[in-house]
Amino acid sequence: MTKQIPVRNPRTGRTDYEITALDAAAVTEIADRLRAAQPSWAGQPVEHRIAVLSAFKEAVARRRDELIRLLEADTGRHQVSVLEVDAVLSGIDRASGFAAEVFAPAGLAATGDPSVRTTGDLVAYPVVAAISPWNFPLQLALIDAVPALLAGSAVILKPSEMTPRFIPALRECVAEVAGLGDVFAVVEGDGATGAAMIEASNAVCFTGSVGTGRAVARAAAERFIPAFLELGGKDPAVVTASADLDSAASAILWGSTINSGHACMSIERVYVDRRVADEFVETLAAKAGRVRLAHPEPADGEIGPIITGAQADTLREQLDDAVARGARIRTGGEIELIDGGSYLRPTVLTGVDHSMRLMREETFGPIIPVMAYDGADEAVALANDTEFGLSAAVFAGTLEEALPIAHRMDAGGVSVNDVCLTGMVPEAEKNSFKMSGLGASRMGPPSVRRFLRRRALLVREAAGPRPWYYDAAE
Ligand code: NAD
Repeated sequence: MTKQIPVRNPRTGRTDYEITALDAAAVTEIADRLRAAQPSWAGQPVEHRIAVLSAFKEAVARRRDELIRLLEADTGRHQVSVLEVDAVLSGIDRASGFAAEVFAPAGLAATGDPSVRTTGDLVAYPVVAAISPWNFPLQLALIDAVPALLAGSAVILKPSEMTPRFIPALRECVAEVAGLGDVFAVVEGDGATGAAMIEASNAVCFTGSVGTGRAVARAAAERFIPAFLELGGKDPAVVTASADLDSAASAILWGSTINSGHACMSIERVYVDRRVADEFVETLAAKAGRVRLAHPEPADGEIGPIITGAQADTLREQLDDAVARGARIRTGGEIELIDGGSYLRPTVLTGVDHSMRLMREETFGPIIPVMAYDGADEAVALANDTEFGLSAAVFAGTLEEALPIAHRMDAGGVSVNDVCLTGMVPEAEKNSFKMSGLGASRMGPPSVRRFLRRRALLVREAAGPRPWYYDAAE
């Protein structure tokens, strides 16, 4: 049975929208329809799929303002909504380039046996389930769906039930492109809908929390289907004594508070060489104090509302725990309730250590704990002292100093002299390490290739018996 799910507005705290969550029967029906259409989609040359996705991009571009407005309503922030829609537009072009590369024709290749040559077919998983979170609702909805479609799979996509207001407009974009709706369905629903999608699909892409990721991996394992998981993070930044402290502070402030800190690859821990730690903290705190709340209008400032009351509670609990254990709040620190929305200004803390929850658990808020270190070995040890391994950042005056530290980070992507580059440079292949994820890269050509199985064709060219045939000696 379908069910209605109320949706809360993060700016007002009021429920002002609802979705119809699909049940398992409805999901199965859609997956069956997609599966029936997929062979002819996959049977077309990749140029056809690129052309269809290009028309989809045009449809998204035509609705750019509408999508930004709806994302603003979903999340309460403006600047990131603009970035999101624009990233989707450029992302379709980039993914199309990767697809062209993946499907570049390859002839028969020689093997170690002089009379055997080999080639292969790329066979797309028929139906891919894409399940996405609320924090970048549109971009993370499409980041896997677009490459999967280019690979030749059909896709059933379910964005988060917490930020679903953009779904009808996205469906309109799909409907405007001839043939795309046959292989691409965008559905509304919650965890139960997501679970049903895994049962009805041949591969699953999941972006979300570690806890749900574990349930998704388990369900996929039961069915022997691949699960590509992109999960949480606790990204560190290391700042050495030779770094340009002013630009490191600007980058880290942005990287910690982007999207109100609701970003998997946001900087959640900062380690600074003790010799420059005080100067760095002064610079960072001064810059943090100038960041504005996105209120009363979403476009008025940088920091939007905390997405839910539960998330605000997590931030408060982590701050209380840190302060109780001796941390000192240098800026921000108070959850402010304004017109029904909860806000936290950029919160810089010192006096932190790894006994504190906010140094160990994912925070997902605009909180910047800064800890001093003595020597590169200690910086690396502290940065790697986490169950997560999504990404990291290193700031130093020279590459000779930065790169050896970067190479020792136990994380899938390291930005040098900047932050969050992993999320902004689709060409850079990366994997998520440790509890931050599983499976092939969603960046670069593997973003497309991971939806393709390879069927090897092995051609014996010279006829006649082989020495190992039973009748070879006759
Ligand atoms: P979540 O795990 O609560 O939900 C994510 C999605 O999973 C939602 O669409 C939800 O409906 C669905 N879902 C819930 N239960 C399910 C089940 N049993 N089977 C299938 N689907 C189910 O995550 P969230 O709170 O929406 O997102 C925040 C988390 O996402 C954070 O941990 C963040 O770090 C992570 N994240 C990771 C990345 C990345 O690229 N690594 C990017 C963004 C967010």
